[in-house]
Amino acid sequence: MHYDVVIAGGGFAGAYCAKTLGKLLGKDASKRVALIAENNVMVFQPMLAEVAGSSLAPLDVVNPLRQLCRHVDVLQGTIQHIDWSRKTLLVDGGRFTRNHEIGFKQLVLTLGSVTDLSRVPGMAEYGRPMKSVSDALRLRAAVINRLEEANLVSEAALRARLLTVVVAGGGYTGVETAGQLLDFMEGSRKYYANLRDTPVRVVLVHGHDRLLAEIGPELGEYARCVLEKRGMEMRLKTRVAEITADRVIFADGDFIEAHTIVTTIGNAPNPVVLGLCEQLGLVTDRGRIRTEATLRVAGHPDLWTAGDCASVPWNDRGEIKTSPPTAQFAQRQGVQLAHNIAAVMRGGEPKPFRYQYMGQMAAIGEHDAVAEVFGFRFSGFLAWWMWRTVYLAKLPGVLRRLRVMIDWTFELVFPRDLSVVLPPPEDVLRAIHLVKDELLFDRGAQCRAFFYLRSGSVLLTAPDGGTRVLPKGSVLDQALLDAEGRWRWTAVAAESADLTAIRGRALKLLQTELQLTHRPLVEGS
Ligand SMILES: Cc1cc2nc3c(=O)[nH]c(=O)nc-3n(C[C@H](O)[C@H](O)[C@H](O)COP(=O)(O)OP(=O)(O)OC[C@H]3O[C@@H](n4cnc5c(N)ncnc54)[C@H](O)[C@@H]3O)c2cc1C
Repeated sequence: MHYDVVIAGGGFAGAYCAKTLGKLLGKDASKRVALIAENNVMVFQPMLAEVAGSSLAPLDVVNPLRQLCRHVDVLQGTIQHIDWSRKTLLVDGGRFTRNHEIGFKQLVLTLGSVTDLSRVPGMAEYGRPMKSVSDALRLRAAVINRLEEANLVSEAALRARLLTVVVAGGGYTGVETAGQLLDFMEGSRKYYANLRDTPVRVVLVHGHDRLLAEIGPELGEYARCVLEKRGMEMRLKTRVAEITADRVIFADGDFIEAHTIVTTIGNAPNPVVLGLCEQLGLVTDRGRIRTEATLRVAGHPDLWTAGDCASVPWNDRGEIKTSPPTAQFAQRQGVQLAHNIAAVMRGGEPKPFRYQYMGQMAAIGEHDAVAEVFGFRFSGFLAWWMWRTVYLAKLPGVLRRLRVMIDWTFELVFPRDLSVVLPPPEDVLRAIHLVKDELLFDRGAQCRAFFYLRSGSVLLTAPDGGTRVLPKGSVLDQALLDAEGRWRWTAVAAESADLTAIRGRALKLLQTELQLTHRPLVEGS
């Protein structure tokens, strides 16, 4: 597959770039422009907290990319690697369609950022991230389960621990999530006979002295006052040092006993973006790719970037700043980027990104938001109503808008839902059966699991054609990977074989551990 333009990432920047470019290029755009994203929806991240707080349904906060970006080819897949010298992307389409090569003439990088939970001991094990719809649903389920458990016990200390939530990070994600959880837990207590007189505790921990750095100190201070008045506990200028299953320990040695810890700290650059920067020798601005004002990367006329993964100069009433990592900037940059690419394709010149800041909003609880619009700051129901109206306007299609509007109207009147219907977590171990000559993994493929060979044998083939047979009891792990986590050998079943695959979070933990010690899982494997 080959396209004139590939847009990598379907968030605010990528989706709006694809939508606009599709419109500008017309019906033929789907043959020339592709949007590649891990999921076939654009997630409206600013509303994730409301899913965690059970005031919105998951489908209300996603926008189907195929309907939003109608004129371009939408490809669902995870980008593994960008090979700039060959102008190709390696894309993993899913379990049965692993390695696709997709070529491009021009590349738009809008991959956002990722969460790195390895910075604080215990964070990966006990911290709950808030980046995706699944994260929000899992957090909602965890909070409801804590309420159920607390209702069951009579020991005061244990009940208090169960009813305490610590949210680490005072940016958008932390503030919005903490606000929602406080309202959700407070509002739900009345349905639990043994909790009606027991207070819930939500503690927001932030390393700096002001909240909401993304949108300026005044609105942050405003949000703090509103939240404190509603009963939230603030720990500002406080750093989380360590987390266990039942406590959060701070850098000064103090601690809070809690079983539910939400982590919104640890924003890290997307590894695919970092990989490309290494290839091109690009110096980043704390992991964000520096662009010219036109959103093009200097010295690389075929590379463009926008949103959270880009460091874009922004002329704020004469003062040159770096665009903040917010949804409204990402969306507007995406639109401008589309116009610029269309102009270049027609032999014209790209224009600089310009944006007249109109204001900012953050939803901080049930029917409550803080807003700054044209310099006026206000909070409460009006701010919240404006917030939702802005979102509704962004949804594609009258039917979808109507459905969400009806959902929201019901939600205004009825209590939040307390049902937990999450499927049990996916098993980290999977049993695999292979017949003779069936492929286990190809050389160069990204490692997605380590394997324990329970029966039969596996034939490894090296790039030079050399072979090695692994007998029953062998482990295929780190020792067979290159520095980028790809298999150095091809593995096929030498005879009928049964293996156990270690995947998911367990694999990630093992890999981090083994990289630190530079040891294979089993010596000599
Ligand atoms: C919980 C939460 C609340 C927030 N609240 C607000 C708010 O109130 N107001 C505000 O302005 N901002 C808010 N933000 C920030 C805002 O959501 C981001 O600034 C915005 O989403 C950035 O857009 P983006 O397109 O750069 O990245 P994203 O929206 O993160 O999109 C990145 C895209 O790239 C895809 N992707 C990543 N890696 C790969 C890969 N390897 N292969 C394929 N696809 C990949 C992702 O799936 C996604 O589609 C919030 C963020 C969060 C997490």
